Amino acid sequence: MNYVIDAPQQATVSVAGTDDLFPIRRIYCIGRNYADHAIEMGHDPDREPPFFFQKNPNNVDESGTFPYPPHTEDVHFEIEMVVALKSGGRNIALEGALDHVFGYGVGFDMTRRDLQGVMKKMGRPWEIGKAFEQSAPMGPLYPASRIGHPEAGRIEMKVNGEQKQIGDLNQMIWKVPEMINYLSDYYELAPGDLIMSGTPAGVGPIVRGDVMVGTVEGVGEFRCEVI
Ligand code: MN
Repeated sequence: MNYVIDAPQQATVSVAGTDDLFPIRRIYCIGRNYADHAIEMGHDPDREPPFFFQKNPNNVDESGTFPYPPHTEDVHFEIEMVVALKSGGRNIALEGALDHVFGYGVGFDMTRRDLQGVMKKMGRPWEIGKAFEQSAPMGPLYPASRIGHPEAGRIEMKVNGEQKQIGDLNQMIWKVPEMINYLSDYYELAPGDLIMSGTPAGVGPIVRGDVMVGTVEGVGEFRCEVI
């Protein structure tokens, strides 16, 4: 049997300090997972059920450059801890949920905020604001076998050396095991799935030439220039 066209390339993200690659199957992104960010976006930070949207696996870009996308004048950065799954399943219990985690990384949920706003207002899907080319700049993954499972620590975004976002992983409304538990009730999770775990307050616009440096304490740092 042959493919009738060339098979698309498998999307990957590298594993820090090795030549190994982690193959990406899906990317789930949680919305409003830090109370202070929910407030800045005009929402009640009470613990309403979580909600997720998806980016495409091949939106991930490790190059350290982010090309300013078309049809927008308001592209925002969002620093997030990335969770990479080595196994999955349905109806995963809270207890033991972290056993499915391969490792963690630092990623940016780049957002065409103006287009997302139009879609929100019209009750339409968010993809045009969230799941565009190179919309998930990301650094390498750090295996949990090396760094453990970070539950607290500084999560910070600097742009041109100036602090824009600051928070702590312990401020997540939905913790990593809870996100795995919740997602697995609605989807079958599988090896290769990434979860982008939400962003603290301070999101804002970038322009060409800006240099974004994101840090997740206990995980790593990722630098990306807007071109
Ligand atoms: Mn986000």
